Amino acid sequence: MTSVLMQAEDLHMHFGGITAVNGVSLTLERGGIRCIIGPNGAGKSTLFNMLAGTLRPVSGTIRFEDRDLIGLHLHKFAGLGIARKFQVPSLFSTMTVYDNLVVARRAGGGAEDEATQVGGMLQTLGLAGDADVLAAELPHGQKQWLEIGMALMSSPKLLLLDEPTAGMTPDETHRTVDLIAGLGDAMTIVVIEHDMNFVRALACPTTVMHQGRVIASGPFGDIERDHTVRDVYLGRQ
Ligand code: ADP
Ligand code: MG
Repeated sequence: MTSVLMQAEDLHMHFGGITAVNGVSLTLERGGIRCIIGPNGAGKSTLFNMLAGTLRPVSGTIRFEDRDLIGLHLHKFAGLGIARKFQVPSLFSTMTVYDNLVVARRAGGGAEDEATQVGGMLQTLGLAGDADVLAAELPHGQKQWLEIGMALMSSPKLLLLDEPTAGMTPDETHRTVDLIAGLGDAMTIVVIEHDMNFVRALACPTTVMHQGRVIASGPFGDIERDHTVRDVYLGRQ
């Protein structure tokens, strides 16, 4: 087994006259967390959509383990071990927290028995006291955690999170950092983020996108000091 989990090369995506992703390559090792940052419209979500199978690149290659993902039907992605959380929550709002996790488990299939796996996930998410609450009634932050939990129920090899802290309070953001940091041993996680404090707290290898391209990649400390990055992004905040 090689140490590389996913390798994307020279991905391009256009929407009409707009080039959303313009020659992006990305190598993901097994395990660990990588952050992708960049200003609005940089192409981050479009890149995610290609990695997660919801958009087919105009050109480029994506390998996951020893498979070519381009053209593979979306329903195959979960089975390969690729899970993603969208920017907009997509919970079953009229079901309880517990039942949302049960449904997600059925979709993914799990080795442990249902009560053990769901109970463990409730603990991980800090939602043990909310098992019987309807998903619609959860505060915003908890909804996001439940969605991360749903993605985790299939024990993915790769978890893609698009702006998981959007709209969260500082305290919720802090707890989300702890949750995600605790998962990086068991799987590879890629997080798109806007919130610099979040990325700084995770202190993960970071890729910076701007106008559809990768303009920098490296440890967050280096990224934060990089003059080009500061000019196009950090400096403007
Ligand atoms: P980010 O997530 O970094 O904010 P996006 O990937 O959402 O950036 O968008 C990159 C560019 O592609 C933007 O100019 C955006 O308007 C455009 N874009 C994204 N999705 C679509 C789409 N479905 N149709 C047309 N344009 C799109
Ligand atoms: Mg986006």
